[in-house]
Amino acid sequence: MKIEIQYIRYMPKELRSGVLYVSKEFNTAAHLCPCGCGAKIRTPLTATEWVLSVSERGPSLKPSIGNWQLPCQSHYWITNGEILWSTKWTSAQIANGRKQEDLRRKAYFDRDQNKQRSTLESLWNRLKNLFR
Ligand SMILES: [Zn+2]
Repeated sequence: MKIEIQYIRYMPKELRSGVLYVSKEFNTAAHLCPCGCGAKIRTPLTATEWVLSVSERGPSLKPSIGNWQLPCQSHYWITNGEILWSTKWTSAQIANGRKQEDLRRKAYFDRDQNKQRSTLESLWNRLKNLFR
């Protein structure tokens, strides 16, 4: 099953199947669930969510897309313009998937906070040195 990329600014109301709509302005992508259920799948393109890469064969999204909130619970990868199906998620996998997502977010924000803290510290040290 193929999926092609289409760059847009705003998400169209009606999505066509087999198209990955990408808005660079809003760092987001959307497509129709490839199982045919018609659900719109949004994949925000941020450091904590999905990463888009595009080769001459087509788009890839990482990590995989697990629609466990939908009745169809489809799970697949978009790799080089193709939909690669995974097995259905068991409830244990769903729980694990959610946990991984939380961990990824947490790791990212921790890193961010550490960065802020060290900037503050170096600023503070510089100030202290000024008045020494
Ligand atoms: Zn579906």
